[in-house]
Amino acid sequence: MKKITILLLFLNSAILFSQENTYTILVSFDGFRWDYLNRGITPNLNKIAESGVKAISMEPCFPSKTFPNHLSIITGMYPENHGIISNYFENSATGEIYKLGDTSVTKDENWYTGEFFWETANKNGIKTACYFWPASDLRNKDRRPTYFKDYVESTPNEKRIEGVLNWLQLPLVERPHFITLYFELADDKGHRYGPNSDEVNQAIMRLDSLAGMLVEGINNIGLTDETNLIFVSDHGMTEVSNDRVINIDDSIGELEYRISGDGPFAMIDSPNGRVDKIYQALKQNEKNYKVYLKEDVPDNFHYSKNPLILPILIVADLGWSITTDKRLKSYTKYSSGGNHGFANYNLDMHAIFLASGPSFKNGLKIGSVRNIDIYPLLCAIYNIPEAEKVDGSRERIKFVLK
Ligand SMILES: [Zn+2]
Repeated sequence: MKKITILLLFLNSAILFSQENTYTILVSFDGFRWDYLNRGITPNLNKIAESGVKAISMEPCFPSKTFPNHLSIITGMYPENHGIISNYFENSATGEIYKLGDTSVTKDENWYTGEFFWETANKNGIKTACYFWPASDLRNKDRRPTYFKDYVESTPNEKRIEGVLNWLQLPLVERPHFITLYFELADDKGHRYGPNSDEVNQAIMRLDSLAGMLVEGINNIGLTDETNLIFVSDHGMTEVSNDRVINIDDSIGELEYRISGDGPFAMIDSPNGRVDKIYQALKQNEKNYKVYLKEDVPDNFHYSKNPLILPILIVADLGWSITTDKRLKSYTKYSSGGNHGFANYNLDMHAIFLASGPSFKNGLKIGSVRNIDIYPLLCAIYNIPEAEKVDGSRERIKFVLK
């Protein structure tokens, strides 16, 4: 009897010991489409995939935009629930506008109605750090990671990696065990030149070499055996063209309306209670797009519950761009290169998921995963309880763990 007790105690402390010494680095390559890994130009990432877990793709949430999806990854919630329903939207009750790039607004915690993983980790005594992630720089320091950096796009990529390696070399009591890292390069080139351009291939190769640099840096400080690496992206990218433009004023130009968004999707409201009239006009001309009343948005979009979503949703077919007379006039070249934000079931909108390290199985190839399951996965790695209202599922994703 005594022997068994001792053994159990030992096992228990061994488990605790291993969790306390596990580091996880969550790397986001903005706009890195799932199939970029299949172009034969990513030797470092492929090596990581071979030693760990690789999903065919990762499905983003609708809309397949940057802020909504970074927040879905880090909260495990659909945008309708975590509050960031687009990169740009208005709270019509207060007149405030949420706008990517406007830090006077994006640092205001009131927009964010989900719990970030760094909050969950901090509550459980795990120190955290972000070398960039949307919402990691909130004004309220209680909702921030232990360490963070204000987003500066011009920060050299090597400096970001150096910053992460420096955090990993802090004295143990100060050292973060969960760290995020972010690179915008693939998205930037994808928008400008399109996903099939040489410029995007150059960006993919550059990001792959940065991944190699990170692996080597972790090895040099002797933390390879303790460190999980998870590479994700927020969405994919598809080619758009000036020849595939939907001008909604052809249908509703005679009616007074308020529009939020353009390109892949837009939300529309009527300032004088004529939502049905606007909807009918758009529905009659429904070509190269889909139009929905808010209450009829398909369930798989998970895009109707939030009060800030406007009464009409219009979503362009893949590769098409929504515009208006006013916007056509203000751009000589409306849309070319690449874009994202389309329905999340389009494979071109799918992202990447690959992971390796002590918590992950070796050499496991799996189908598509959902980005709302990353938050529960992180909680499972550290064996900590999830926030109350999470849309993702630990049960669905935990098979990738040892
Ligand atoms: Zn993005």
